[in-house]
Amino acid sequence: MKDVKYDLAIIGAGILGISHALHALNKGLKVALFERHQKAQSSTVRNFGQVVPSGMNTKWQLYGRKSLEIYKNIQFKLDIGVKQNGSIYIASNEEEIQLIEELQAINKVNDYNSVLLTKEACIEKYPNLNHDYCKAGLFFPDELSVDPTIMIHRVLEYLKLNQNFSFFPNTLIKEIDSTSDSCLIIDSLNNSYKASISIVCSGAEFEQLYFKEFYESDIELVKLQMLRLKPQSEIKIPGNILTGLTIKRYESFYDCPSFRTIKDKEEKNSFWKQWGVHILFKQESDGSIILGDSHEYADVNQKDGIDFYLRDSISEYFLQEAKKIMHLEHWNIDNQWLGVYSQCKENDIYYKIIDNKVHIITGIGGKGMTASPGYAFENINKIFAS
Ligand SMILES: Cc1cc2nc3c(=O)[nH]c(=O)nc-3n(C[C@H](O)[C@H](O)[C@H](O)COP(=O)(O)OP(=O)(O)OC[C@H]3O[C@@H](n4cnc5c(N)ncnc54)[C@H](O)[C@@H]3O)c2cc1C
Repeated sequence: MKDVKYDLAIIGAGILGISHALHALNKGLKVALFERHQKAQSSTVRNFGQVVPSGMNTKWQLYGRKSLEIYKNIQFKLDIGVKQNGSIYIASNEEEIQLIEELQAINKVNDYNSVLLTKEACIEKYPNLNHDYCKAGLFFPDELSVDPTIMIHRVLEYLKLNQNFSFFPNTLIKEIDSTSDSCLIIDSLNNSYKASISIVCSGAEFEQLYFKEFYESDIELVKLQMLRLKPQSEIKIPGNILTGLTIKRYESFYDCPSFRTIKDKEEKNSFWKQWGVHILFKQESDGSIILGDSHEYADVNQKDGIDFYLRDSISEYFLQEAKKIMHLEHWNIDNQWLGVYSQCKENDIYYKIIDNKVHIITGIGGKGMTASPGYAFENINKIFAS
């Protein structure tokens, strides 16, 4: 056993684990972070990198807004690739215009900055928009974009500057014994580590730790399909681009007075509804464009219900619909991938405390890149209140 005793051991170096590590270090705590891979390679690096509090319900928007502050604060100290180019929701018909207008009214009450743009203003700001598709837009100037393949690794480098931080890559934690007065954390090579408190942020991996708890929970796994278009040399599409189907999908819109009536009119057997597709664009610094996504679901105890296939029909649908929204130089696919995250059916996050020492926190769903830093800030303050 290593002699050191940590104040906090964190299992999982995805955005949720890293965010908890960041705030614990800011409190002066001694932190160990364990990651089964050399570096994170799950949903935290497979997403769009859209930091969009505008898409969250009122509770999670506040965490997202805190995250904006936290990301910008780190960026100020070390370049983690954060860009503030805002987010835009493009409405393509009267119903979507109605919803963005209602969302703006809600945001006014919540004191969250958003600007309604006419069709002309949208096209002036994003010249590649298809004039037939775009009818109006709602712009959130404060929102951020990050490159998901880079950001988390740079934040890890930032944490490593702190002498109270220890990172254990390629370390699979297979057991946490919390029955005595501290946590004994045991890896797959039988090395053990001691900590006062443990936080388990294992994402969508449930076999190694707390299998029974997860198996009996209402967690579900969600498989998303994504693609990246090869770099476009001339085209610049700054920030996060969200479109009509997103307006009918993201939680922030649930509070709009017209939401239910508009949803009820949807064609139940449409392809996009069957595969949970909505169309989002995000351009990276090299000019490539991430395009997605789709959603397939399986209960945690029947997780073979989602397979590992990339479906051509979904990629073709992305391209077909995206072409109706944007004019691009080309539509050549660079690569395609799937990502899996976990979420709860009843609650907005999975949180269970074992022996008053182990905090299992996962199932943050599709809001992790946006909300994790802000959520973890509050959570670390609660856990280490005294
Ligand atoms: C395709 C896609 C697009 C998305 N787009 C966005 C977006 O634009 N904006 C947004 O806000 N959110 C987005 N999300 C959601 C977001 O990516 C997730 O909410 C977030 O990444 C979850 O982070 P996490 O830390 O909980 O899990 P993960 O990223 O899965 O990290 C968990 C880590 O724990 C490690 N681990 C697990 N068990 C052990 C163990 N026993 N020992 C050691 N290590 C272990 C794993 O190796 C992994 O690295 C998207 C998700 C997907 C899949």
